[in-house]
Amino acid sequence: MPKGAKTCPGCKATVGCRAHDCPCGHKFLTAIAGTEEHKAKEEPGFWPVTGNTITTPAGRAPAWKGDLGEWVERCEQQALPNYLAESALRYWLRNVVSQEEFVFLAPQLRGLVGEAA
Ligand SMILES: [Zn+2]
Repeated sequence: MPKGAKTCPGCKATVGCRAHDCPCGHKFLTAIAGTEEHKAKEEPGFWPVTGNTITTPAGRAPAWKGDLGEWVERCEQQALPNYLAESALRYWLRNVVSQEEFVFLAPQLRGLVGEAA
């Protein structure tokens, strides 16, 4: 599959990745951010993600110091308390620890992430 293309599930033709419909009549559904269909595509198992929750953080991850709990606290100070989704913390965590540590630590994040109100 060339970059920038997708396959029509109806006729197997290759169309541009931004095409909304195929010459065969198939309509590609585009999930609109904030709608239920869009949310359904997010990784399962996270805390409910609400309006202001950050799922992909911007900027540099806070430096790794101390243990996971301390680090999560520092991340939250950089954003707003309880506004970083687990996916955001995992994204940052991957940038500050080795792959081995990440595999060990990432599953523990869930217990440290607050549920955004
Ligand atoms: Zn088609």
